[in-house]
Amino acid sequence: MKDFVYNGQPSRVVFGAGALSHLEREIELLGARRALVLCTPEQQGQAQMVVERLGDRAAGIFARAVMHVPIETAREARDEARRLGADCAVAMGGGSTIGLGKAIALDSGLPILAIPTTYAGSEMTPIYGITEAGLKKTGKDARVLPRTVIYDPALTLTLPVSLSVTSGMNAIAHAAEGLYARDGNPVMSLMAEEGIRAIARALPAIRRRSDDIDARADALYGAWLCGTVLGSVGMALHHKLCHTLGGSFNLPHAEVHTVVLPQVIAFNAPAVPGAISCIERALGPAEPRSAAASLFDLARDNGAPVALRDLGMKEVDLDRAADLTVKNPYWNPREMGPAQRNEIRQLLQKAFDGLRPA
Ligand code: NAD
Repeated sequence: MKDFVYNGQPSRVVFGAGALSHLEREIELLGARRALVLCTPEQQGQAQMVVERLGDRAAGIFARAVMHVPIETAREARDEARRLGADCAVAMGGGSTIGLGKAIALDSGLPILAIPTTYAGSEMTPIYGITEAGLKKTGKDARVLPRTVIYDPALTLTLPVSLSVTSGMNAIAHAAEGLYARDGNPVMSLMAEEGIRAIARALPAIRRRSDDIDARADALYGAWLCGTVLGSVGMALHHKLCHTLGGSFNLPHAEVHTVVLPQVIAFNAPAVPGAISCIERALGPAEPRSAAASLFDLARDNGAPVALRDLGMKEVDLDRAADLTVKNPYWNPREMGPAQRNEIRQLLQKAFDGLRPA
């Protein structure tokens, strides 16, 4: 066995259909008395339910979370928390809302209780992102890790099937790259493989019936595992590419992950046979096919996009995307510096065209 370092993340997880009923108890355990509830404008109805449940312990709602956490929104939310005398924030929603909670925690130290309603996994990571003057800066800080996470599959029944599938693929991407992380360890590999298995089992069932609570629980369980992997070990080419495509070409987060993942796994496969076996085991032996092809099929067969052209990317931008990706190289099991620029460009072309990996 390879030597390793394992760092546990100090968060408390409460999981189960109906787990939202423990919210008051969990706020009390945090030693808090007045919670500001954060959400997007679209999820205000769900957030209102939380406020009603909290009664006197609710300080109010801030329903202006948006994608990529603009610094102005983070400041407004922080000011609102101060004005209302909030001593904790409840972030209910996907990565955008939890990201807003993190931006508040970064400056104020306010404890965050997260109630994730997508599979993006931000709730399990100390990673934050804030957008200032059009540039998204990301960083790592232990203060932004939510102290408590309530996973209630009942709250995900309203997540549209299309977003459920792409968000699930986004989660799988964390686990897939975690399996070949430079600082990986056996515990994270166990979580990663099980996370991929749970989500791959859940997505076809959710597609058949979006209110299948067992499938929703499987998907959220997988999201927890995959999010933990993202928060614990380093990512590689896939996350770098998605960050570049999302940030510089304004493409939608979960969909970009869905399209790019099979292509990156095909690219990295020769360098990481152990990780590839784990992915293949997790995706199941329906028929002999590569990990990359299985990931492609999982997305395509469940109605998700598989081509960047369908996300609004322009072919003329592929050259610039390749240049940006190799400009500040990231660690990857296969080298990806300026010398590999043409290989990265080819990978992007395959992602653009939606080619199924061999
Ligand atoms: P999102 O949070 O932007 O949500 C997408 C849409 O779905 C929103 O309109 C939201 O209101 C809606 N929605 C969410 N849950 C719903 C539900 N149960 N029912 C109905 N509608 C629902 O999308 P996301 O993919 O979860 O998050 C993407 C953002 O999170 C990106 O900015 C990404 O960079 C960030 N992210 C950060 C980390 C991290 O560790 N810091 C990890 C993953 C993602």
